[in-house]
Order: sequence, then structure tokens, then C-alpha cells
Amino acid sequence: YDVSNRSAIVTGAGSGIGRSTALLLAQNGASVVVNDLNAEHANAVVDEIRAAGGIAEASVGDATDTAWIASSVELANTLAPLRIGVNNAGIGGASAPTAEYDDAAWDKVISINLNAVFRNMKAQIPSILANGGGSVVNIASILGSVGFANSPAYVAAKHAVVGMTKSAALEYSAQGVRVNSVGPGFIDTPLLASMDAAAKDFLVSKHPIGRLGQADEVANLIAFLAGDAASFITGSYHLVDGGYTAL
Ligand code: NAD
Repeated sequence: YDVSNRSAIVTGAGSGIGRSTALLLAQNGASVVVNDLNAEHANAVVDEIRAAGGIAEASVGDATDTAWIASSVELANTLAPLRIGVNNAGIGGASAPTAEYDDAAWDKVISINLNAVFRNMKAQIPSILANGGGSVVNIASILGSVGFANSPAYVAAKHAVVGMTKSAALEYSAQGVRVNSVGPGFIDTPLLASMDAAAKDFLVSKHPIGRLGQADEVANLIAFLAGDAASFITGSYHLVDGGYTAL
């Protein structure tokens, strides 16, 4: 992945897909701003990157917070020109059917899984433009294109991320900022930690490949889209789902 001579912001990089992405981008030469709400996890990822000879800084904060967002762009540009934004921070949220879904739980999922993606793009794009172009990768889900019972807020937010990504691509691709979204199937990360074995078995059965995905299998797609080899790829929604949506 050609991501050298630039910096990248990865939100929610203390765990799971964000962590694997931060490690992979750093391995391939990007200087990475490792964001998470959890300071211990963000610092551990930075330590891991540095131990492998890479460049990274932790930026502990809430990816929905506009003050933090502005500071992340500033920090990234002190490392190297910001040319990659990976808007990944997200939560599963409450589980309930639509008619019983709590309003506050809805707002929380929309705030992190959708509003934060918008606000981070809004801050990242002008800086990426000023630095000569680059790539934004927004982490949606298979649930950006199909439904899932008892997760109305999550499904709504992820569908919205897919559409918002296409719109931003129309606006900025000619100026050199490619914008894509990624749709992972169910990936074995701490996000699924609250599920019991029976629920995980049910999820496995929905993936024709016969297993859940691993975080690094998603990170490989993200790093490819972030890098120069993906130079003609913009405005698209890229599945990495073990066949889930082909079933
Ligand atoms: P994870 O729980 O392992 O990691 C998410 C990280 O984001 C955590 O470290 C958490 O502390 C951080 N975070 C949460 N809210 C934050 C906020 N407001 N500001 C900053 N950091 C915050 O989850 P994951 O599975 O790696 O998920 C990453 C992304 O991938 C999410 O957007 C998720 O919706 C998406 N996704 C996950 C799966 C899956 O099955 N795991 C499938 C499709 C899409």
C-alpha cells in the first residue's frame, strides 16, 4: 500500500478494525493519529506502532466532538501532510425492535456512527485538499445495504454513511480527494463481545465463507483504498463480507 509521506487520522483506533488499520497504515509508511475514547487502548496501539519502527501519536477524545476533530487535523499535519482520513469509530448500540427503540439510544448511535463521520470528513477534506489530495475511507457495514432486525439506528446510520460518502465523492473527486465506504460483514472484534455463543453461531451461518471475519481482513481493504493504487476508485461502497450479502 503506497501511503508514505503522509499522515492519516484513524478514529476509534484503540480496538478492532481501527486498531488493525492504524497498524497496517503505519507499517506501510503513514504517520498515524490514533484516536480513541479509551486512552489506555490508544496508547497501547501507539506503543505497538513505535516498537515496529513506525510513527504515531495518540489523540484521546470523542470523535463526535468538533474541538477534538479540529485538534486531530492539526496534530496530523504536524506529523506529515494529512492525506488520509479513516472514519471508523462506531458502536453497536441498543438492541430492540423499531417500535420499542429508545429515543436516547437512537440519538447516541446516530451521533457516533453518522454525525461523527460527517464532522470528521468536514474537517479532513479542506486539509487534504490543501495538501494536494488524498483519500477518505468511511467505515459503514453490510448493514449499509441490507437490514437487520432490532438494530434500526445502526442500520439507518450505516445506510446514511454509504450515501453521504457518494455525495462527498461527487463533490471532491475531481479535486483529488477520493471518498469511499467499506461494508464489513460481522467481524470478530470486541464490538461483538456482548453476544453469546448461540448468537455468534447464528451470525456465522449467515456468512457463506463459514466464519466471521478478522479485523486485519478489513484493514487490508481500507489500506488499499487509502493508498495510491486505488487512484481510480471513488464514490463506491466496498464489501468485505465473506459472502453475507450474496446469500
Ligand atoms: P470495536 O468496539 O472493537 O472498536 C471501536 C473503537 O471505537 C473502540 O476502541 C471504542 O472505544 C472507539 N469509540 C467508540 N466510540 C467512540 C467515540 N465517540 N470517539 C472515539 N472513539 C470511539 O469495534 P469494531 O468492530 O472494530 O468497529 C469499528 C467500526 O467498524 C465501527 O464503525 C463498526 O460499526 C464497524 N463495523 C464493525 C463490524 C463488526 O462486526 N465488528 C461489522 C461492520 C462494521
